[in-house]
Amino acid sequence: MLDVQKLRKDFPILNREVNGKPLVYFDNAATSQTPKQVIDVIIDYYSNYNANIHRGVHRLSQEATDAYEQARIKIQHHFNAKHAYEIIYTAGTTHSINLVANGFSSLLKKGDEIMVSALEHHSNIVPWQMLCERTGATLKVIPMNENGELVLSEFDSLLNEKTKLVFVNHISNALGTINPIEYIIEESHRVNAAVLVDGAQSCPHIKPDVQALDVDFYVCSAHKMCGPTGVGMLYGKEEWLKKLPPYQGGGEMIAEVSFEKTTYADLPHKFEAGTPNIAGGIAFGAAIDYMNSIGFENIANYENELLEYATEQLLQIDGLKIYGTAKNKTSVISFNVGNIHPYDIGTILDKMGIAVRTGHHCAQPIMDYYKIPGTIRASFMFYNTKEEIDLFIASLKKAILMLL
Ligand SMILES: *Cc1c(COP(=O)(O)O)cnc(C)c1O
Repeated sequence: MLDVQKLRKDFPILNREVNGKPLVYFDNAATSQTPKQVIDVIIDYYSNYNANIHRGVHRLSQEATDAYEQARIKIQHHFNAKHAYEIIYTAGTTHSINLVANGFSSLLKKGDEIMVSALEHHSNIVPWQMLCERTGATLKVIPMNENGELVLSEFDSLLNEKTKLVFVNHISNALGTINPIEYIIEESHRVNAAVLVDGAQSCPHIKPDVQALDVDFYVCSAHKMCGPTGVGMLYGKEEWLKKLPPYQGGGEMIAEVSFEKTTYADLPHKFEAGTPNIAGGIAFGAAIDYMNSIGFENIANYENELLEYATEQLLQIDGLKIYGTAKNKTSVISFNVGNIHPYDIGTILDKMGIAVRTGHHCAQPIMDYYKIPGTIRASFMFYNTKEEIDLFIASLKKAILMLL
C-alpha cells in the first residue's frame, strides 16, 4: 500500500492553486511532476559542483563527471542493461529515436521494409518516414482495432525477410494500451529484424528489463518519470551501437581529430557530442532512485485502482465514450462527450483547476482511425487520489451542463 498523502508532500507543485482552486494535475502522460528529492539534486549541482565533465583535471569537474557517470550506472541497473556504455544520454525520446533512425540511413537500401504500429506518437513515425525518403525503404503499418489494440495477425503477415526494423511503443500515450512487445520482439527476431521500443509512456509505470526482453533499442524521457525535461536515454545492444555511425559531430565524441582524418570515441561517447545536460543526467538518476524507493509494483497496483475507479464513474455519464478499451492498459483515459469539442471541456476544467490534455496527443493516425479530431485525456500518476477523481467527475458534469 502507498502512503499517497505522504508522497504528495514530496511534490511542491501539488500545493498550488489554479484559478483559485486546488490544482488537480491529470496531464501526467504529457509530463510528470517533479519531487523535491529531484529538484534538490539540481539545486545542489548548480550550487556546489557545476563544471564541465570528462576533460577537466580540477576537483569540480571530477565531481561532476563522477555524479554524471554514477547516474548512468543507475540507469543501466534500472533497465538491466548488460553494460553502462549501452546507455546513451540523449535529450529525450524524440532525440533517441532520431539518433537510431539517422544511423539506419547507412544500413538500409531500396526494397527494405521497416514497420511501425498504428498506435505511435508522431516522434515514432516521422523520423522513420524521413529515413524511408533517404533510403528508398518502405514503411509498413501494423493496424489497430476498435479497442485500441494492435492486430497481431496483420503484424504476422506483414513481417517477412525484407523487414529490417520494427518500432512500436510499449504503451500508447493516446490510449494507454500496453502492447505485446515480447511477442513483437520474438517474431521480429525470427526474420532478423531489429526492434526499437518507445518506452516514454511505460517507464513511469513499469520497470522494463531490456535483457529479458532481448530488445535491440529501448528509449525514454526522464520528464515522464519524475525527472527533468531535456534529458532521456537510448539503450542499445552493444552490437547495434557499434554498427550505427555517430549522429552528431563535435566535442566529446572523438578519439582524435586532424583535418585528414578523425576517429570516433568508444561507446557511449561516440553518440554524446557536445556538453550534455549534466544536471539533467544526474537528476534522471535521482528520479529513478525516487521511483524505485516507492516500488514499481506498488505504483502499478495503485494506478490500476485509480484507472478502474475513474473508468467506472466516467462510464456513468450520458453520451461519454472512452477510446482505448484494451484489456491491458495503464492509467490513461481518452474520451469524448457527445459532440462537444474536447477543447471546450478542457478549457472549462482548467477554470476549475483541473489540468487535462485535449487534442490529438501527437497521434493523429489514431484520431483518424476513430474519425475524431481529438479527445480529452486524463492520465494519472501514483500521487493522484480518488478524491481528485471525484472532483474531476463533478467538474466534468458541470462543464457538460454548461456546454449542452
Ligand atoms: C512523450 C512521448 C514521446 C516524446 O517524448 P519527448 O520527451 O517529447 O521526446 C514519444 N513517444 C511517446 C509514447 C510519448 O508518450
